[in-house]
Amino acid sequence: VAKSKGRNRFVYFDHQMQEEAQRRMRMAGDLRNALANGEFELHYQPIVNLKNGRIAKAEALIRWRHPQKGMISPATFIPLAEDTGTICGVGNWVFEEAVRTVVAWRSRYDPAFQISINASPVQFKNGGIPHARWLSLLDEMRVPGSSLVIEITERLLLDVEDSVKCQLYALRQAGMQMSLDDFGTGYSSLSYLTKLNIDYIKIDQSFVSSLTPDSDDMILCEAMIAMAHKLGLKVVAEGIETEAQCALLKGAGCDYGQGYLFSRPVDARTFEGLIVAHAAA
Ligand code: C2E
Ligand code: MG
Ligand code: MG
Ligand code: MG
Repeated sequence: VAKSKGRNRFVYFDHQMQEEAQRRMRMAGDLRNALANGEFELHYQPIVNLKNGRIAKAEALIRWRHPQKGMISPATFIPLAEDTGTICGVGNWVFEEAVRTVVAWRSRYDPAFQISINASPVQFKNGGIPHARWLSLLDEMRVPGSSLVIEITERLLLDVEDSVKCQLYALRQAGMQMSLDDFGTGYSSLSYLTKLNIDYIKIDQSFVSSLTPDSDDMILCEAMIAMAHKLGLKVVAEGIETEAQCALLKGAGCDYGQGYLFSRPVDARTFEGLIVAHAAA
């Protein structure tokens, strides 16, 4: 009896896995058409200068408005785009959209405004960042590379090939800044902080979510901020949801903050409203 039950269970799991695989395949197909169908949107979340309370930058976060399934989170479809090779097209679209937005916001609100975009390590595989095309778009739009910050993760730095270094170098040469996202959660060796030219670290939200004055997380945040500053890097704290967390990070000398306390990610029009309201306040 046990044996047949075991086999049934196996068949059941097998069936479930097959359904999951089919679901992913359908979504991968939809993903391929999503770009052509204009189903992606960039939302923007403010990055606030904690010294003066001003909105200094925005992080661009992609959203997929699926015609049947509604909004799909990047946490769901970015890994699929990475597995199926769609990520390069998606990444180029994000770049172009962010450039158009930063041009508009620089001319309307703040000539020093920056937008930060997330780049997947897979985009860098096989020299996959079309930097010539990216740089000529900047030229065409008459906007300096320094209007953009590229967020990379420790995952990219795990096996830094020369080609990755070359691509990062080309972007830096054009003036773009580099930010190390989700800092403290990967396996990266700290030596990357000095070997690659990085401008910002983003303290991962997992260190911020239960931050209290005497917590271990507080010690870690203080240590990360002190280390970054000694290396000449600026620090952004992610996932700030409460005034208390904000005050602690500010007290520890953190340069920038991002999180629901300031605003959730919003569409471009709503973001412009935030800038205007903030400037008036
Ligand atoms: P990330 O780059 O670390 O982005 C921060 C994530 O934290 C965003 O989730 C944001 O909405 C969320 N967040 C911000 N403030 C708070 C807060 O106060 N509390 C909480 N609980 N969450 C907060 P989102 O937009 O769902 O994006 C998830 C991840 O998907 C991003 O993590 C990034 O790794 C990836 N992603 C998003 N857009 C892109 C993109 O255009 N390209 C690539 N390659 N990846 C992207
Ligand atoms: Mg990010
Ligand atoms: Mg992050
Ligand atoms: Mg994250």
